[in-house]
Amino acid sequence: MDEKTKIFIVEDERQIARFLQIDLEKAGFQTAIEKNGKRAYERIIQEKYDLVLLDVMLPEMDGMEICRRVRELSDIPIIMLTARDEIKDKVEGLNLGADDYVTKPFSADEVLARIRRILKRRNEEPRKEENRLVVGNVILYPDRYEVKVKGEVVELTHKEFELLQYLVSNKPNVLSRDQILQRVWGYDFMGNTNVVDVYISYLRTKIEEKYDEKHIYTVRGVGYVIRD
Ligand code: CA
Repeated sequence: MDEKTKIFIVEDERQIARFLQIDLEKAGFQTAIEKNGKRAYERIIQEKYDLVLLDVMLPEMDGMEICRRVRELSDIPIIMLTARDEIKDKVEGLNLGADDYVTKPFSADEVLARIRRILKRRNEEPRKEENRLVVGNVILYPDRYEVKVKGEVVELTHKEFELLQYLVSNKPNVLSRDQILQRVWGYDFMGNTNVVDVYISYLRTKIEEKYDEKHIYTVRGVGYVIRD
């Protein structure tokens, strides 16, 4: 199990990140390091890790904020790395949904013991990963017809949701207006293909303009495509 387990080390102090990496890899884990908080959040959501070691003080977005946001979307195990005697951080971290914390300065053995304990616990009672589609900071939950952008729920109509879901699930293929029409509105739809453009404009207003997330591109003479 350990050979394939991927640990994401979010830590801006290079030496600490490096020493964790060396010891975790020696113990058979795969690792990745990120030192920027905002990028770390995006990578946790978009990439596939088994556990996150999360420092509190980070550039651009702190560990508490990352933990809070990630918990809205995922139950990936999180161990907070807190500075010595920051009791308040520990309590806050656990309230925000962190699984555990270690206090700096820590030994690699201590971190490894906690990682193994959490992974063992998770393995014994596997939780169901919710079905979701991700593009940038836009996350779709097809089972409950819900969309979140940057952690906020966006109100979409049924048709808007289906259109977005169809586009995102076909990324990076270009879809023609006819394909979209047939799939989302059905073969018996009597209206004009303009309806596709109208609904695309609704999505652009509700998601792209409001949240500054540009993912829907028009391919002239063909149709639409989703890009990260
Ligand atoms: Ca730090």
